[in-house]
Amino acid sequence: MKYLVLIPDGLADWKCEELGNRTPLEYASPENMNYLAREGICGVARTIPQGFEPGSDIANLTILGIDPKKYYTGRGPIEALSMGVDGRIFFRCNLVYVENGVMVDYSGNRIGDRESREVFRALEKEKPYEFIHFHHGVSFRGILSFSREFDEIPKTSAPHDIMGERFERYLPERNDLGMILVELMEWSRDVLRDIGSKANMIWPWSGGKKPEFPEFREKYGMRGSMISEVDLLRGIGKGLRMDVVEVEGMTAYIDTNYRGIARAVLKELKRKDFVLLHTEGIDEVGHEGDAEKKAEAIIMYDERILGYLLDRIDLDGTKILLIPDHATPVKLRTHTSEPVPFAIKDGRRDDVRVFSESACKMGKLGLIDGLNLMEILLRI
Ligand SMILES: [Zn+2]
Repeated sequence: MKYLVLIPDGLADWKCEELGNRTPLEYASPENMNYLAREGICGVARTIPQGFEPGSDIANLTILGIDPKKYYTGRGPIEALSMGVDGRIFFRCNLVYVENGVMVDYSGNRIGDRESREVFRALEKEKPYEFIHFHHGVSFRGILSFSREFDEIPKTSAPHDIMGERFERYLPERNDLGMILVELMEWSRDVLRDIGSKANMIWPWSGGKKPEFPEFREKYGMRGSMISEVDLLRGIGKGLRMDVVEVEGMTAYIDTNYRGIARAVLKELKRKDFVLLHTEGIDEVGHEGDAEKKAEAIIMYDERILGYLLDRIDLDGTKILLIPDHATPVKLRTHTSEPVPFAIKDGRRDDVRVFSESACKMGKLGLIDGLNLMEILLRI
């Protein structure tokens, strides 16, 4: 038996007035997703455990049966895994722009990729401590790693959450490591000014110790591949020692290389027992707040990825799970924590006829803890 897990990021939504009081998913009524619901067994799953922020990292760990309460140490550490950065403690490190004590831009005055690389190089060269390291990621994003241990990880704030506010109120918590972070932030202002950078300060956040994820193969007794358009998911895949597959032309938006992605899934399914595909486009459109466009994005996914796969895979020899990681209501333009609909095609059936937020609630599996999804899919 093969297992295919399809995760369209942010697919679930709320009813929208502009769509005749339907959700984008209900409005789109995607043929192939409806097929999975009709031919399979449905329910709704809690993918964001209480007390966690509704993010793709938390939700996807939960879907994979990896309890965030036990294994999640922060976004910084997962991004570090994805970048192959080694160390003991990691923070996500933004280049930001502040003015008169106010956080003006979390993306460093729209600093470009090349200039940003130079900035991180300068920070690494001038750094005041041997045990810290700066690593450039993509555009304004980087990682600040520590090669020595600290007992306590300071609480920090995400720079995009404090736009327009006085940043002093949101500086890292003042424990031993937090004091060093604050010192580095102050120090970075001189370095960035001296090299004439568009950004004028670093902002370390979401720090944590190196996560000790179990190995996917050991936990589930099979080899797994992860195909994702975002670093956060690739980091989880690497942390679980899954095979992380890159596809050319992936844009993490609705103009992505659908054909290339679908082909990569087919190729991986031939060689592995388990394939997880996480795509980003629908979530991005949710953040844009355009209900109609989100419905169109759902149709694109349904036709170009799901339809393409259903036409080509061995349906009797493959169990399929379709589930968004979390909801991204266009009305809010951000993520929410409510349970998400899912359909499993594994030979069992219930009375659900369409794949939607409300229809799946009536499914035979009811409301479940997302941590149980893998067990249900694999029927361990
Ligand atoms: Zn999102």
